[in-house]
Amino acid sequence: MIEEKGILFILSGPSGVGKGTVRKELFEQKTDLKYSISMTTREKRPGEIDGVDYFYKTNEEFEQLIAEEKLLEYAKFVNNYYGTPKEYVEKTLEEGYDVFLEIEVQGAMQVKQNFPEGVFIFLFPPSLEELKNRIVNRGTETEDLILNRLKEARNEIEMMDAYDYVVVNDDVEKAVGKIQSIIQSEHCKRERIATQYKKLLEDELS
Ligand code: 5GP
Repeated sequence: MIEEKGILFILSGPSGVGKGTVRKELFEQKTDLKYSISMTTREKRPGEIDGVDYFYKTNEEFEQLIAEEKLLEYAKFVNNYYGTPKEYVEKTLEEGYDVFLEIEVQGAMQVKQNFPEGVFIFLFPPSLEELKNRIVNRGTETEDLILNRLKEARNEIEMMDAYDYVVVNDDVEKAVGKIQSIIQSEHCKRERIATQYKKLLEDELS
């Protein structure tokens, strides 16, 4: 196959929809994708590991990263910063690997502006009631945080229009299967293949 740049996939969607679970299951199966580990200022949860789940930063460190333009996108979500390291994403795509981001919707919209050739996947809850149950049942958050996250979720659902694909998360296995299909289909897109072959021909003729 011809050398090509990797594709940037962005999985986003409302808080509590199960993005993290779907992403983890996808990575159990799909080993040739590269996950971009985010930076965050939020507290480490029990069982999380620095450099595996997130790179944990202080507010000062994070604001320094913003000032130095080292982030592809960032957002403040429930009073904490979250952001995607720019250099890792650019370098890994350049090396020909697909990169996968799992981020909230404000950040996804920034990526859409700066990187429109990315493939944007919106993970959708089966219903708002179901979404609420999942957030409440997680049991790791206070009432206030739950309410904040729900308010956020309602706004986020309205942002679905900006995405290329919508995957309903009624079943993790099925959702992961659909994301796998999206990844395969994107690699078969005529525009992508045609560009590569034209480049090959031009290189051969020059
Ligand atoms: P949590 O605190 O539950 O790990 O994540 C909270 C939210 O932040 C989730 O919706 C998650 O997808 C999102 N998130 C994780 N990393 C990033 C990132 O790098 N950028 C943005 N914008 N959101 C992120």
